[in-house]
Amino acid sequence: EKYKEGLEKTRTSFTSKVNDLIARYRKVDEDFFEELEDLLLQADVGFETVMDLMDDLRFEVQRKNVKDTEGIQSVISQKLVDIYRGGEEADSSLNIQEDGLTVLLFVGVNGVGKTTTIGKLARRFIEEGKTVMLAAGDTFRAGAIDQLQVWGDRVGAEVIRQAEGSDPAAVMYDAIRAAKNRKADILICDTAGRLQNKVNLMNELQKVHRVISREIPGAPHETLLALDATTGQNALIQAETFKEVTDVTGIVLTKLDGTAKGGIVLAIRNKLGIPVKLVGLGEGMDDLQPFDAERYVYGLFA
Ligand code: GDP
Repeated sequence: EKYKEGLEKTRTSFTSKVNDLIARYRKVDEDFFEELEDLLLQADVGFETVMDLMDDLRFEVQRKNVKDTEGIQSVISQKLVDIYRGGEEADSSLNIQEDGLTVLLFVGVNGVGKTTTIGKLARRFIEEGKTVMLAAGDTFRAGAIDQLQVWGDRVGAEVIRQAEGSDPAAVMYDAIRAAKNRKADILICDTAGRLQNKVNLMNELQKVHRVISREIPGAPHETLLALDATTGQNALIQAETFKEVTDVTGIVLTKLDGTAKGGIVLAIRNKLGIPVKLVGLGEGMDDLQPFDAERYVYGLFA
């Protein structure tokens, strides 16, 4: 249901246009394929992904001998799911330790919804009975620490913080110590996301990473990149940059409810090979959902 509501904008534009196309054409021919291709491009699926998808679709239509458009919607849905999976089962579950501390590191530029996501995720773990702590590692942006504190207070997670401008790696060190002392289950770490200076960003993230993995072997257990779906192809460019500077293990795609171009999910997965682990489908507490390609695609056509 969340998927259905959250994807309303994509549904009313992309899906209704596809359905319209299917009704208009009746027969599957080259013109039909071309119009479909346009719609997919408009939905931000991305050029290369669309080309892959169209190849697959043509092949499948031939193989199954689909002549009229009636049977094509299910073929399109299945191909969308397939292209997302890229031949493997893309696992959207988070790597959470059974015993001991799990460290989740969040990266991403300002304004994409990183803090909100951290807050929502913290609340979800707390509801499961886990002890959650937050590390205020964005010491650069004015107000970032206080904003995280507001979320911490709201959901009941202790926030480990230092003064603005202090070394994020030192904050992580403190936070891990504190989390171990309190026997916390989950430590969620915020970081600054300045893309303007890639070398600085890389140095900072690598130092943070180093401190965390030195204190806890195998940590961070996830490095999650938050991307704003409404920024379309820009989100892809951000992802490519972060992928260069740090080992991103999953994507959190926020504000999917705010865009008609939900195809960006497919582009991210297909182009970067990084699984989308969580999606933001609204501003409410429960609007952060684990990503599920099938629910997503069938949510579009439901
Ligand atoms: P940060 O700078 O990356 O930490 O971004 P914030 O967490 O402050 O979020 C920026 C804005 O995006 C806030 O107004 C959030 O409420 C909003 N936001 C975050 N996630 C979502 C989402 O999934 N859907 C919608 N509609 N808004 C979101």
